[in-house]
Amino acid sequence: MHNNIVLQAPAVASQRSTREWQQADAEHFLHPFTDFAGLAKKGSRIITKADNIYLWDSDGHKILDAMSGLWCVNVGYGQASLVDAATRQMKELPFYNAFFQTSTPPAIELAELLSKVTPPQFKHVFFTGSGSEGNDTVVRMVRRYWDILGQPERQVIISRHNGYHGSTMAGASLGGMSGMHAQGGLPIPNITHIDQPYWWENGAGMSRDEFGKVAASWLEERILSIGPEKVAAFIGEPVQGAGGVIVPPATYWPEIQRICDKYGILLVSDEVICGFGRTGQWFGCETMGTKPDLMTFAKGVTSGYIPLGGVMVGERMAKVLIEQGGEFNHGFTYSGHPVACAVALANIRLIQQQKLVEHVHDDVGPYLAQQFASLNDHPLVGETQTCGLMGAVLLVKDKAKHQAFPSDLEVGMVCRGHCFGNGLIMRAVGDRMIIAPPLVITRAQIDEMMVLIRRCLDLTLADAQKNGWL
Ligand SMILES: *Cc1c(COP(=O)(O)O)cnc(C)c1O
Repeated sequence: MHNNIVLQAPAVASQRSTREWQQADAEHFLHPFTDFAGLAKKGSRIITKADNIYLWDSDGHKILDAMSGLWCVNVGYGQASLVDAATRQMKELPFYNAFFQTSTPPAIELAELLSKVTPPQFKHVFFTGSGSEGNDTVVRMVRRYWDILGQPERQVIISRHNGYHGSTMAGASLGGMSGMHAQGGLPIPNITHIDQPYWWENGAGMSRDEFGKVAASWLEERILSIGPEKVAAFIGEPVQGAGGVIVPPATYWPEIQRICDKYGILLVSDEVICGFGRTGQWFGCETMGTKPDLMTFAKGVTSGYIPLGGVMVGERMAKVLIEQGGEFNHGFTYSGHPVACAVALANIRLIQQQKLVEHVHDDVGPYLAQQFASLNDHPLVGETQTCGLMGAVLLVKDKAKHQAFPSDLEVGMVCRGHCFGNGLIMRAVGDRMIIAPPLVITRAQIDEMMVLIRRCLDLTLADAQKNGWL
């Protein structure tokens, strides 16, 4: 069943058996978003090396990584130019801060390059260490902006249920994940959520285009119920990633833009996943046709080789913050970390040289769309969606009746188990099976991935038939 190839033991870490790694892992390492006891009992899968779009685990199994690590390894694994950039910068200047009226060449050069590859309203960047810190920065910057303009009552940030904006206090509050809000007294005050533009769940009976306008109208309703003079900003992911690769109808974002403009509300595009080519344009807002005031980025900016995040600040806000703001009391030790910035520079140059955005837009994006559409003939598949190199397959009980599986069956997790067992990393969000492979993937590799996906859908169907779930 496995797509196995046996490799030599990993070179960098000490050599231990899988059992030994799992035991030490269970004894000392608290994993993110994990049931600690459950994992300790089951044992982690130990990933030891990677190349291009493939991973290998400690037992030598080869795995096709259709999730780019965690939505981030856009240029694929093993890119020497990123490694070289880090090595050179580590030797030259491994760290210096940007607090003491000081700066470093990689941070300056990255800021300059970002202002070239982002939409024209962006000329300035604020660096952070992650996407969550980026969204914390958004909250502080948005409120600071309205303060400076003498409208301190503009505090409320509107976001969406099932959006994901990170795991710090502000990031988790902006996000609309009910499980996260249930722990630790979130959201923080003055953050409110509207429903997501998820047609299959919320729009049945309407055309997708009709539904897109209806879903956007929920923003206007909320603005009016709060009072427009109290609303600071709206934040959303162009395509919801962690929420299940929910691609909104084409009518949605232009209408959101119109509503923000109508009430003078700032528009924030969380581009942590959609940025740097994922959607087939440099940024998701370009695919969706919006002109945001702020853009959060992280993940793909370094292809995950090293942590880095930040916020692109549009001229509307930058002008006010710079000319009227005085000191902005916010920042991180690693804001503009020279090694991280050097890796980001190498990463963006590689994306440019290899024309990866064009590759997604003209070649593998359309090819993936065609391949995913062909899954609709499978009895379990209720809908498929793609945008650039993100895709979702929704598993349903009865597609003719538009009927989902009861959530306690965890059909998505069953399917994910088959993926793991067959050398494919695909993520389950409820019953949406999602992918976001490295942008360097080829058509032949997409074919290879589709064979695995179909096999896993068939195995899941067999389980469903055997267990009487249909
Ligand atoms: C991953 C993610 C974040 C959080 O980034 P971290 O680097 O994990 O803090 C924020 N927004 C979106 C859309 C993300 O996918």
